[in-house]
Amino acid sequence: MYYWYNISMYQDGTTHREGRINREIHKLFWQANFQDKNRLILTYLTRIPAVAAYNVFIPLVSAYGIQAIIDKRLDQVNHYALLVILLSIFYCLCWSIGGIAISKQAIKGSKYIQNRIFANFLAKDYDFYTNAYFGSLGAQAARIRDAFNMYGEIVTLALPKQITIVVAGVAIIAFQSLALAVATVVAMLFVLSYTVLTSSWRLQFRRKTSEASSEVAGSIGDSLTHGPTVKSFAMEDYEMQRLQKPLARWAKEQYRTWVTFVPADTGRMLLAAITTAVLLIYSSRLYQQGAISITIVILIQLYVIRLVASTLDIAEMIKRYEEAMGNAYEPVKTMGILVNIKDPESPKKLAQSTTHTLELQEVSYQYPEAAKSQYAVSNFSQKIKPGEKVGLVGYSGSGKTTLTKLLLRFMDVTTGKIIIDGLDIKEIGQKDLRNVISYVPQEPLLFHRSIAENIAYANPNAPKSIVIKAAKMAYVDEFAEELPKGYDTLVGERGVKLSGGQRQRVAIARALLKDSPILVLDEATSALDSKSEKYIQDGLRQLMKNRTSLVIAHRLSTIQRMDRIVVMDKGRVVQNGTHQQLLEEENGIYSKLWSHQSGGYIGVVSSFASEESEAL
Ligand code: ADP
Ligand code: MG
Repeated sequence: MYYWYNISMYQDGTTHREGRINREIHKLFWQANFQDKNRLILTYLTRIPAVAAYNVFIPLVSAYGIQAIIDKRLDQVNHYALLVILLSIFYCLCWSIGGIAISKQAIKGSKYIQNRIFANFLAKDYDFYTNAYFGSLGAQAARIRDAFNMYGEIVTLALPKQITIVVAGVAIIAFQSLALAVATVVAMLFVLSYTVLTSSWRLQFRRKTSEASSEVAGSIGDSLTHGPTVKSFAMEDYEMQRLQKPLARWAKEQYRTWVTFVPADTGRMLLAAITTAVLLIYSSRLYQQGAISITIVILIQLYVIRLVASTLDIAEMIKRYEEAMGNAYEPVKTMGILVNIKDPESPKKLAQSTTHTLELQEVSYQYPEAAKSQYAVSNFSQKIKPGEKVGLVGYSGSGKTTLTKLLLRFMDVTTGKIIIDGLDIKEIGQKDLRNVISYVPQEPLLFHRSIAENIAYANPNAPKSIVIKAAKMAYVDEFAEELPKGYDTLVGERGVKLSGGQRQRVAIARALLKDSPILVLDEATSALDSKSEKYIQDGLRQLMKNRTSLVIAHRLSTIQRMDRIVVMDKGRVVQNGTHQQLLEEENGIYSKLWSHQSGGYIGVVSSFASEESEAL
């Protein structure tokens, strides 16, 4: 299910390791934190004094105030009270400035993180999107932002606060009584080590919970993305049933995470209470011996309570830190997945001609998961001259779509070469390559945006009149004008609000608008009725004029008029010639396909029958 776990590798080819991913998380988060270095520094410069004033100096002044009351120096009490108020005002000022600074800094960092992960996911290989759960990728992109905010809260707020309280608190106690300071530090270390130990023990449960949780999200996402299929097969119960496995795994891991909090928490509370009691007894001894005054006893109690509270806060901080790291783990791991299809270091430029030669030299391709001897494309050689129109036919599964994906370099050939105008496509930048090809895939998916925006995707700056012209050529206007908002109608996620044929027409309009010198159509009109197809054919014919074209079609009438037709079977070229020439090869696949078609159309039933008999 999580296929990409197995292939997750870093740029240097090593597989992921936990420590390595954690280091990557810190690196990424600090890069984000440093996006606004000035405000980050300002935060530290204001918050540390604020914490010192509130948590360290106010108790100190209070203790002196209490001493004054005991000594009946009541006039001095007012001064101490005033000092407490001044310290509070100082605290409020500093804390507010820090608060504003950190808010801006955190937003900047979050935006940086969000852009980094989105750019990273966008730059992945084509393969990545077909293997990954879409829902889960979106969730990961959102979760890493939350994780960063949590991490930021710890390193910019909680950590400096706790350090200040502990260091300043212990320093002031040490100033009064070194023995007591040492005792306090020992006691605190005692509570802290217990916290750290239990926390790292619990880390494994947290991580498993986080993994299980995204598995649940991915599973729900997968079912809901295919809601219409679920409905049509009345498989709601089955999908519910299917969710139970990851859900049960999540429940088990989540329970372990929560339940192990009980001994971690109660143990720490107990230790903290014991510490307070021991320190109380110890300071009373010191008082009896005359080593410390009553002020110090009071001060110690004020601090000890605060310090013990601080260890609880530190425990909470560690918990949140782990949560942040746990939540960032999977997204960062996904970010580390190796990209195989890379641009050359110094890409060559294609000539600016309007037509291009396309050459495939002994191209073979094997899918990574395929059996050893199974090639989707095998020793495929063809040269398509500038402006030549070549049709490609073959039974389904013969490797036609794979060939188009190789042409667009969605994946690299296993062996052989693909050459455009004398340049291996590996020598050209991917963007350049894809810019010279107008490609209509077999099952075009549309964005959940308006029809106009979907068409203009090929050229977002195109004036509306040109977009409409392309739409007319692809026969989109026939249905678009009937829609409630015309071209501004939203098409639903993946284009579900349009029929298959309508989606194809939008995809064709998009390719028309792109106006690239090479045209690759993969069954681009397969979902159209013959009447609409006939209209679109006119548009396509105009488009193909002077363009190097590779047209895959199921319906032979579509490609009858091509300059040449190549027949593919099991990844190989088995026939090659004009429509007439191929018909004359009596036992060839082409004439068989043709005879199964009435008027160039393969009836669904007969085509099934023919493919089955072929397979036998
Ligand atoms: P066509 O377009 O001619 O119907 P395809 O190129 O889609 O054929 O498929 C050729 C072969 O490659 C088929 O046997 C198919 O099962 C296999 N195939 C296609 N896509 C993948 C993939 N992503 N992973 C593994 N095998 C695949
Ligand atoms: Mg196909």
